[in-house]
Amino acid sequence: MPIYEYECASCGGIFEAIVDIGGAPSKCPACGSRECKKLIGAPAVHVKVDHATARIEKRVKDYLKDGKVSDAVRFADKAASMVKSDRVKRVADRLHERSGK
Ligand SMILES: [Zn+2]
Repeated sequence: MPIYEYECASCGGIFEAIVDIGGAPSKCPACGSRECKKLIGAPAVHVKVDHATARIEKRVKDYLKDGKVSDAVRFADKAASMVKSDRVKRVADRLHERSGK
């Protein structure tokens, strides 16, 4: 069965759902709304990168909360080399400025 991407009209979340051809629109896993728009032609890999980016940002924030700036820099550098994401790269760049390296 095909996997489609949907964008929720209520909360703006993007999610993937496996749907039968001609099946009913999916429900947003975040807010339960059925006001979801199918994204046509958007490759699923983009969603995965976005989720990874969100996890990376959260982990960086956790490091910073604990005052572990150098750990955050190391982690962000590693993440930026693994995840080809401009957003992750910006996070890493900001951390470098912040840590003065
Ligand atoms: Zn939603």
